[in-house]
Amino acid sequence: MSQQDWSGVIHPDQTVLQPVIWTCQNPQCKPPGRHSFDFQSDYAVCPKCKAEGYPLVQKVTLIHFLLPQIDGPIAGQYSRYCLPCDPKRDNMATQTNGEAATDQPQLVNCPGCLNAMQKAMAELGGKILGPSGRPLDLQTQTPIALE
Ligand SMILES: [Zn+2]
Ligand SMILES: [Zn+2]
Repeated sequence: MSQQDWSGVIHPDQTVLQPVIWTCQNPQCKPPGRHSFDFQSDYAVCPKCKAEGYPLVQKVTLIHFLLPQIDGPIAGQYSRYCLPCDPKRDNMATQTNGEAATDQPQLVNCPGCLNAMQKAMAELGGKILGPSGRPLDLQTQTPIALE
């Protein structure tokens, strides 16, 4: 298998490519106290043990943050949403492209979403922009009333 087979084509539905996160199941690679060794790469090759592909090296599901946004491009059951890493993206993350999305900020592992969330938190003192551009409390997921 050529290395090209592992590159960006893995995410056909992503409009903005995020780094692919892999996990190596080799017990000799895992840091103390961790279940596995995770790394970002375009290729399914462990930088420590050089194992390539399944079963040792497996893709980690990319978990985006579902940000409630009143005019967001993604329609949910009770709200509309956007993905912070790609606010214009209108197709939901699906399991078939190795992606998922959650409204639980602590479960998010998408580097783009985490960056956007951290940036928002830094600029807004712990808040992220929510529906109508209002700051959203990341803990309670509720928009903060503006005075
Ligand atoms: Zn390894
Ligand atoms: Zn994302």
